[in-house]
Amino acid sequence: MEAFQFDVPALPADALEAERRVREFLARERAAGTYQPHLSSWNTHDAEFSRRAGRAGLVAVGFPKEYGGQGWSMLARYVIAREMLANGAPCFAHWIAERQSGPQILRHGSERARKLILPKICAGECTFGIGMSEPDSGSDLAAVRTRAVRQGDDWVINGSKIWTSNAHNAHYLIALVRTSEADGKNRHVGLTQFVIDMAKPGVKVRPIYNLAGGHEFNEVHFNDYVVPDDMRVGELGAGWDMVTGELAFERSGPDRFLSDYRLMVELIDRVGTKPDAYQAVEIGRLVSHLSALTRMGTSIAGMLTAGKSPQVEAALLKDVGNVFERELPEVARRIAPVQPAPDDAGARYSETLSHIVQHAPSYTLRGGTREILRGVIARALGLR
Ligand SMILES: Cc1cc2nc3c(=O)[nH]c(=O)nc-3n(C[C@H](O)[C@H](O)[C@H](O)COP(=O)(O)OP(=O)(O)OC[C@H]3O[C@@H](n4cnc5c(N)ncnc54)[C@H](O)[C@@H]3O)c2cc1C
Repeated sequence: MEAFQFDVPALPADALEAERRVREFLARERAAGTYQPHLSSWNTHDAEFSRRAGRAGLVAVGFPKEYGGQGWSMLARYVIAREMLANGAPCFAHWIAERQSGPQILRHGSERARKLILPKICAGECTFGIGMSEPDSGSDLAAVRTRAVRQGDDWVINGSKIWTSNAHNAHYLIALVRTSEADGKNRHVGLTQFVIDMAKPGVKVRPIYNLAGGHEFNEVHFNDYVVPDDMRVGELGAGWDMVTGELAFERSGPDRFLSDYRLMVELIDRVGTKPDAYQAVEIGRLVSHLSALTRMGTSIAGMLTAGKSPQVEAALLKDVGNVFERELPEVARRIAPVQPAPDDAGARYSETLSHIVQHAPSYTLRGGTREILRGVIARALGLR
């Protein structure tokens, strides 16, 4: 059995510079009142905010300079993401592109795709969606049925994706599709990823409303959608490896434990400087958990900086991070009970708590469910 090692690296010079720049940027934004800090999660779409962050050199800083980035470490990217989340910044317009789709194209895309797309991501002008899940295939991605058939230099795609976050605002998405039959013994073969240009004909987006009535995710339907072969990501048939590599980026960031950060701040304000013994213990426990999660996140960013693919460590961080995110509103309800007030912007604590109670159930689903993550971890420990 192999133990997990979470060494925490010291922040390199580029990460310290990133921290200084992002704090300055956010202080300027707050002073100018150019964005409303959101109540939870990172999924507020504000294209203008993302452009300003791009102009300030705060998006995709890890990409090489030739593609518009700054060649900084993943630790610098991590620090920027952490500060954006802690300040409730509306990052969704560039979040998925810089977190996972861009890095995927940088590592495995064609030169044409890199030159076409990466500079737009760095400029904060490019929104991506994730085209993995299908109606009968969420946890079990090997079961995807969307199919691409070769036609000369192109591929023709037919099928549907579901739960595609922000597809209604996306310029592109990376879709996992079947390009040949699964081998009877190995269902993971025959899958391939393609970059989908959402402005081209043959792709339709339909909204799905979440339980709070919000429009965040969608159905995406392909009807004879034509994609050139140089928009393929990775080798033909290597989609399973591509997708698991992409999930390491998706699962490892501070977005997996800072979704509820505003509630933590509001809760501490609410309890005030004279907590009773129960409140003090519970808040102390939350703060120490958050501190451990931050150290794990920094450690994984260090692994990514070192060129590793920490898929299991990312699964572990997402699992314990999501447990924390689900627990926080429950602790808040116990130690500082309040009537729900979803639309009362004046009552910040109850407004935040109401919002998070409605959204928290999705945290352990998006990006892979808890059971699936625990399966990944158990396999790495040799337990299954
Ligand atoms: C807010 C939100 C945003 C999302 N955004 C996107 C997106 O942008 N792009 C995208 O592609 N998808 C997205 N998803 C979909 C998400 O990835 C899937 O919902 C998730 O992977 C689970 O798949 P499923 O819904 O098909 O459930 P299922 O896979 O059917 O699972 C149902 C239940 O069975 C359990 N289960 C399944 N298989 C096993 C197993 N082998 N062992 C033990 N238990 C198992 C699961 O843990 C779960 O509890 C999003 C989901 C949410 C909630």
